[in-house]
Amino acid sequence: MGEKEILEDTTRSTGRDALKKNVQAAIALSGAIRSTLGPKGLDKLLIDDDGRTLVTNDGVTVLETAKVEHPVAKMVIGASSLQDKIAKDGTTSTVIIASEMLRNAWELVVQGIHPAVISRGFRMAEQKVIDAIDELSLEGNNDLFKKAVISALSGKGHDSLKEIVSELSLKAVEIVSEEGEKIDRSKIKIISQTGSSIKESEVIQGLVLAKKRIASSMPKQVKNGDVLLINGGIERRSFSSDMKLNVTTPGVLESFRNKERQMLNEQISKLRNLGVNVVACKEGIDDDVKSELVKLGIQAFRRVSKSDLDLLSKSCNATIVHDVMSATKENVGKCLSSSNKTLGGLEHWVVDADGGGTTIIIRGSTVDVIGEVERCFDDSLGVVCQMFEDGRLLPGGGATYVALARLLRRYAETIPDREQLAIEAYGDALEVIVRVLAENGGMDPIESLLSVVSTQTNLNSDRQGLNLYTGNVEDMVDSGIIEPLGIIRQAIIGATEASISILRIDDVLWAKQDIEIPELSGN
Ligand code: ADP
Ligand code: MG
Repeated sequence: MGEKEILEDTTRSTGRDALKKNVQAAIALSGAIRSTLGPKGLDKLLIDDDGRTLVTNDGVTVLETAKVEHPVAKMVIGASSLQDKIAKDGTTSTVIIASEMLRNAWELVVQGIHPAVISRGFRMAEQKVIDAIDELSLEGNNDLFKKAVISALSGKGHDSLKEIVSELSLKAVEIVSEEGEKIDRSKIKIISQTGSSIKESEVIQGLVLAKKRIASSMPKQVKNGDVLLINGGIERRSFSSDMKLNVTTPGVLESFRNKERQMLNEQISKLRNLGVNVVACKEGIDDDVKSELVKLGIQAFRRVSKSDLDLLSKSCNATIVHDVMSATKENVGKCLSSSNKTLGGLEHWVVDADGGGTTIIIRGSTVDVIGEVERCFDDSLGVVCQMFEDGRLLPGGGATYVALARLLRRYAETIPDREQLAIEAYGDALEVIVRVLAENGGMDPIESLLSVVSTQTNLNSDRQGLNLYTGNVEDMVDSGIIEPLGIIRQAIIGATEASISILRIDDVLWAKQDIEIPELSGN
């Protein structure tokens, strides 16, 4: 069977035609989100099939929610999702840069430059950028970290909210971070309480669970506790409705009950032998057991969710056991303190242990307000974790992108081959960020870009960028508009990766609906 027949049910575009369509798809995609970039970016109202609505100005949320069918557009969305996973921010920038790289590449293709040459030039430019970016960076300190978080939250919520969110995020991450280790974000627990003001939100050292000990006569506080976590309960078997107990001789039921009581007693002595004084169960704890635990001075909690048990297990370095009888000394964890605290009028259980773990308590007047604050925390925690792992920062407001573009233009001049043009095109693409920031701030994009470029050159300073709050070109570090290095670097790498893989496609075979797999016969 010839190629023609195999491709009968396929729409095919090849060569330039394929590239053109793919570039168009990427540009359309970035067109859909460019108005959300920066502090003056607008929100999008997303409505799903069921009519549920979500207002957001987060690029990746818009793209992941929208039903995008085009495979190339999906590749660009993939780059944005990856950015979200790795760097937690810069998702809109990634898409905008990728599509601008493709737009500029297309112009070169029209001039007769082969995509392979462009890809090569892009790779050279990327390498240059990665080498240079470290030199543009500055070492962060607590003051700069806070400014970077506030920059990252620009366009999301009002100023006092950003202030609170950034301060609490820094505090929470500081508690869970350990020198030289990757930060485990899951050790930061977030609980929300409605009814009071955001200002009353707080960070508490240790894990806070909305639980109270099963008997108030149990100790209120246990210091240096030995903790046992059970993925079950300490209770009698409950009779499920389809369970049958055949009582044939008198006393069977009684001996059955005795046996059960004996089993519970064994569990209690086991707990005593293990030296446990804090117990948390996923399921219930029998009333008879409760009084025994009180006598032993054990603090006990029941119906603790599996996810909370997992957190406790990390924090206390305990292994979750299936039941008391299978527990060994090695399974028992340690806590510094396990205590009772009243928060927002409700009793809570607070566990502080060596393995870290901290809780952010978000307070707000209504569920909607809390939802907004939670999203802010999600972003700011991502950025803060990033900064604790790599403390280097870069000037924002497009300053770094313009500085890199200037560098690339100087570099391009030294390359005698056609790649020179691709390197220039790559640099121009990075400058798109300033243009879009300006556009969204109601300023002239071209004039703003030219002004940033000339100020950087005249002052010989890579920190000059566009401050959308003042409308001026300023030193971004002085203005506090700064970003973690990892976010800008990853945005550039991700955009390059996406644009190069799209440039390499020269044949698009698009199956028509219900295509049958062609039978292969020897020909
Ligand atoms: P992304 O999804 O790419 O993170 P954002 O909407 O968060 O998009 O916008 C981030 C951009 O906004 C960054 O380039 C950042 O430097 C810039 N930015 C933040 N605050 C300001 C400001 N006050 N003036 C100009 N640009 C700013
Ligand atoms: Mg952002």
